[in-house]
Amino acid sequence: MRILVTGGAGFIGSHFVRLLLGPDGPPGLTRVTVLDALTYAGNPANLADCRDDPRLAFVHGDIRDGGTVRELVGTHDAVVHQAAESHVDHSLDRAADFVSTNVQGTQTLLDALLHHSGDGADRTMLHVSTDEVYGSIEEGSWPEDHPLQPRSPYAASKAAADLLVLAHHRTHGLDVRVTRCSNNYGPNQYPEKIIPLFTTRLLDGLTVPLYGDGGNVRDWLHVEDHCRALLLVLARGRAGEVYNIGAGTELSNRALTERLLAECGAGPDRIRPVADRKGHDRRYAVDASRIRSELGWRPRRGFDEGLAETVAWYRENRAWWEPLIRPDRPHGEVRPHGEVRPHGEAPVLDGARSGAGNEAGV
Ligand code: NAD
Repeated sequence: MRILVTGGAGFIGSHFVRLLLGPDGPPGLTRVTVLDALTYAGNPANLADCRDDPRLAFVHGDIRDGGTVRELVGTHDAVVHQAAESHVDHSLDRAADFVSTNVQGTQTLLDALLHHSGDGADRTMLHVSTDEVYGSIEEGSWPEDHPLQPRSPYAASKAAADLLVLAHHRTHGLDVRVTRCSNNYGPNQYPEKIIPLFTTRLLDGLTVPLYGDGGNVRDWLHVEDHCRALLLVLARGRAGEVYNIGAGTELSNRALTERLLAECGAGPDRIRPVADRKGHDRRYAVDASRIRSELGWRPRRGFDEGLAETVAWYRENRAWWEPLIRPDRPHGEVRPHGEVRPHGEAPVLDGARSGAGNEAGV
């Protein structure tokens, strides 16, 4: 089996590649190809521990490049599509980039699948989406057939991509599956999202910028549990189906911040309230009963243990995150604009990359 992972140098993508190549990977796996543009969020160092595996190949390219995508899709049995502009805050300033990558990029993959659909090979595409496509919910949780009511440009671009993917199943019979997961945490997450941002700032003795009243609620899932769910949907999910993924570990941002303060041995004086994010969704909550009952998925990592391990990872891996924080700006004070390396550069898996600053984000 040959699997193409778009965005495999990012946070979730790199954990997924590690799972594929590890002892719990799929039987008969012969090749994993990562297609990644290495934007500010993509980091070859995330794949450093896999780089000697002869089954791993890295292609430095863009999912919007139809020629590259068509060639790669033709030589793989499955596509796990994770490449995206993923940070809500940036989508408030530069929504067009999100439409381009998240919508046009996904369509480019679908066009390639369609192009090769007559060649007799059975190909599957797993589209990795987010619970944010459902909008915001005061009480209860969303089942998969809940109407999509995205509120940020990021969520709207992911929802558009979801609909295009599902339309290609209904119209053309492509074997596509969609997953919608809650907030992930774990090692290797770019320090713009709340857990790595706050952790690295606390480890540096700085304050943490908490949005609004801190009452926004998210459901947290360890990245490895998300990746195991993706593998299950790829192996045994149904074509044309959507699977929600979430652990039901709901925490307000303030409660999360208090846990991080405790893990880092810091007091509440380190919280710095900042104006709320525009259009900040109050609460997300998915109903994950389908993936639990159909595919037997269960999260394995408890939140307390997972969070403590994650903070320990950032404490012990400064060499990973320090280069990502721009030396010319105060840590976490300025939103970055995504930097894309020139395409056609030689593939690199040795950790060299460019950095960017950041603002509070979830
Ligand atoms: P990330 O920002 O860490 O990684 C994204 C990766 O995509 C990077 O390696 C980047 O270089 C690459 N990329 C961006 N634009 C590209 C392009 N045009 N062509 C090729 N590669 C490109 O994101 P993440 O947090 O790992 O999220 C991965 C996927 O999971 C995304 O699709 C996201 O929407 C989804 N998701 C994330 C979360 C979460 O909590 N992080 C939750 C649910 C779903």
